[in-house]
Amino acid sequence: MNLVSEETTHAIELAFAKLRQRSGFTERPSQVQLAMLLSDLIGGGQRGLFEAPTGLGKSLATLIPAVAHAIAGKRIIIATYTNVLAEQYWHKDLPTALSLFEENPSTAFLIGRQRYVCLTALDETDPHVVDVVRARSTLGIESEFRKIVPKSGRELSQLWQKAAAPPVCPARLCPMYDECFYYEARRKAETASIVITNHSVVIQDAIMAQASADGTGPLGKYDFLILDEAHDFLQAATNGLEFELSPPNLSALLGILGRCENALLNLAEMSGEEAAWRRDCASLRTAAENSQRRLSMPPDLLTEPGILAAAPGNLAETEQIKAASTQNGKAFAEGIAQTVGEACATFVSAMERRGLAWRSDLGERARQATDGIRNYSTYIREFGLGCQSVLEPQGVSVSYLGNNRSETKIRRDIIGLAEPLTELLWNRVPYAALSATMVLDGSFDFFKNASGARPDFEEVLPTPFDFATQAAVYLPKAGAIPDPSVARQQGSEPAYYRALARELGEIIEACEGRTLALFHSRKEMEGVFSMMMVPEDFPILMQPKFGAGNVGERFRDDPATSLFALRSFWTGFDAPGETLSCVALVRVPFEVPVEPPQIARAAYMRLQGQDPFREFTLANTKMLMRQGAGRLIRTTEDVGIIALLDPRLRTKRYGAEILDNLPSGMRTFDDIADAVGWIHR
Ligand code: SF4
Repeated sequence: MNLVSEETTHAIELAFAKLRQRSGFTERPSQVQLAMLLSDLIGGGQRGLFEAPTGLGKSLATLIPAVAHAIAGKRIIIATYTNVLAEQYWHKDLPTALSLFEENPSTAFLIGRQRYVCLTALDETDPHVVDVVRARSTLGIESEFRKIVPKSGRELSQLWQKAAAPPVCPARLCPMYDECFYYEARRKAETASIVITNHSVVIQDAIMAQASADGTGPLGKYDFLILDEAHDFLQAATNGLEFELSPPNLSALLGILGRCENALLNLAEMSGEEAAWRRDCASLRTAAENSQRRLSMPPDLLTEPGILAAAPGNLAETEQIKAASTQNGKAFAEGIAQTVGEACATFVSAMERRGLAWRSDLGERARQATDGIRNYSTYIREFGLGCQSVLEPQGVSVSYLGNNRSETKIRRDIIGLAEPLTELLWNRVPYAALSATMVLDGSFDFFKNASGARPDFEEVLPTPFDFATQAAVYLPKAGAIPDPSVARQQGSEPAYYRALARELGEIIEACEGRTLALFHSRKEMEGVFSMMMVPEDFPILMQPKFGAGNVGERFRDDPATSLFALRSFWTGFDAPGETLSCVALVRVPFEVPVEPPQIARAAYMRLQGQDPFREFTLANTKMLMRQGAGRLIRTTEDVGIIALLDPRLRTKRYGAEILDNLPSGMRTFDDIADAVGWIHR
């Protein structure tokens, strides 16, 4: 049933008519099609999944119906995975969409609080900069801060670290509350007709809404949710629902405890309970500090990593979970979780008891002070509950002890998202989830099964690109590159790296640079890089060890350059134009299930009668191969080659399945010179 008023439909049509008159506009029928489908869903309060390919003009296809329905009285949330895309929506696409309408609805932008500058913290760190930020910031977020503050490099990063909003603060009782960027953004986001935000905020909002008496969170009550970059929503949900007990998190707990202690010290002195109050604080501090010390020691036998507990009960009983459990580490980890959990609970109940007594004895002053620490006490209580969830995981989840060379952490991860997401979101609000890569083997089942989403409507929009003429596939001849899994088993990796280096060298020379080589492991990338021999005219950049550095920009700026990169470049990296002529997917990126959450997920899938390799590992791999290949063609003008260097694509059964999920119609070559010649024909 179409519940969209004629007026709203007319407003959307008019907006597209105006857009067509703008210079540089390219007609894309699938853009209008998507806008109209979204409009129907918003009007009918229904749920939908969309594969909306790159180049379709997805942002405006989303915003135009959202603005039209917001004018008609709906509240709509638009969330992306990355803050970069959220900022692009806010600064570029939303103003364009608004300019196409006579009347404009109220709008707001909200991302995670730690991406906002805290004026109080900045004032304590560098008071001279506060006025610069006040005068020149509009959103008060990190990207803006880095542009306007007259510092650079390390000095700027250090200042940002100190000035970023803390995870909890006195909020209303902060002297700078009225001008606080974060709380100003929260106030606007609670009522604005259109809110641009990110996936994490949507998850946090849903958790807070579930826990609140009136069923609303920071985003207020809204009518429709649009999730862009929806393929990454599962990761955001996993991150939002995890709990970690680690040295940095215990440091945050200790910082908040210190602020609580100071905030109530005056009341304790006035009521003659200073020593008792200090004792309350000292108990939690001792528990947290001791645990922090123990987790910071280099791992030994006592801290052997592995699974601590799993839920549901039949999952905990599986052979896979038992085999991955830690016996030595269990007492160590559970002792810490129990000590910190109990200390948090005891502290919060003592603080509440004292707070009530002080309020009745000391009146208004006590009310203000205890109200001021309410956010802190909520944080400490939730930290304690998190510790409890390590001991007794709920739903479909696993708790485990993990470590690296220098420290140990205790975590609880949700491995079955379908149930919590259904409760938190899907049953609560109508939605549309969109992405350029949502479909696998011709269906949305992978996303639906993993997320629990049960849409009323699904649609794959046609791509505006002509892959048959814009792109070609290069698959080296059989035997040109060894099988990587055989090379690993036989310890003949150097020969494998040498073959890859030879192939990549030929590709880079044939494409005159312009090659993005995507690797699955740093060891492999560095091994191949060290063997590369290409003319100096075609320099090769390699992604640095931590983060991405500026290699992406350098690659975009210089067409003769090639780039060797890892996971973060498989998705979301955009290099349109002649600077990118070849994407080389070096190896099929299978995830080997060695980490406790991966082992637990595989065991849980087997219990459900599913095949974890086919339905999770292979499915994820196909999706990643689609995303990696998707880096090549970003505009209708782009041309180029997808080089697939893993010989298993020819020899294994799954190879054909992976190839079937790449864009259809591309010609395949086994000689790179032929592929380049054909592309530039
Ligand atoms: S309200 Fe909180 S985040 Fe905002 S300025 Fe004050 S302390 Fe910082």
